[in-house]
Amino acid sequence: MNDYTPTDYVNAFRNLNLQPYQRRMLEIHYCAPNHTLTATQMAKAMGFRNWGGANLHYGVLGKLVAEMLGWHPMPETKLYVLSEFEKPGREWHWIMRSPVVSAMEILGWAKTEQSRIPEEVEVTTSIHEGAVREIRVNAYERSSVAREQCILHHGCKCAACGIVLADVYGESAQGYIHVHHLRQLSEIRENYKVNPIRDLLPVCPNCHAIMHMRKPPYSIQEIKNLIHAQKQNANNALHTDEMQAQRR
Ligand SMILES: [Zn+2]
Ligand SMILES: [Zn+2]
Repeated sequence: MNDYTPTDYVNAFRNLNLQPYQRRMLEIHYCAPNHTLTATQMAKAMGFRNWGGANLHYGVLGKLVAEMLGWHPMPETKLYVLSEFEKPGREWHWIMRSPVVSAMEILGWAKTEQSRIPEEVEVTTSIHEGAVREIRVNAYERSSVAREQCILHHGCKCAACGIVLADVYGESAQGYIHVHHLRQLSEIRENYKVNPIRDLLPVCPNCHAIMHMRKPPYSIQEIKNLIHAQKQNANNALHTDEMQAQRR
């Protein structure tokens, strides 16, 4: 393919008016270590059924970008406009092309819109001033990558209720999820650096809101218990209604 510049990609992305989930795929790809992932990882992070879904959706995006650039790839090479490929093991690695990486940074897409972790920027007086600054820096400058790495590892399924938002809201919500920070602010020390796999978990916006109704927040297990208890209540009520109906 031709050597397109970051500016070419910036213009293409700007003119394309991408769907939220299409931009989300680019964000996930950008935030993967070394801007490299497999189709399986992309599928997990986006909530696609399998690697084939990732291939399909990223391929469609590649085709759109290629058309905007004025490049006409063969059907099987439309992904090349976004990625280079290597096969070090069983699965192909998609490596985001460096002009695409630069374009993402120029557009400000490298910091994703879902990137803020609210509990990291809550300021409490018990924390040393420097630590507060450090946590702010963490939250605004690093957590973007941290949250994407959490999602790359855990996927975009809610850890509390098990929902995948796209199953309810369709394609627009594909890959959308909040991330909850599991550590208490009181445990956080000055040199704390978030561990994306251990300290963060994906949760849907509903569960996340309920978790933060209490301080300290409800744990994932407590939310699971609430959901379970409420299901049982509903079942019992239904059962009682049925019994009464039968008696009539
Ligand atoms: Zn949930
Ligand atoms: Zn939270």
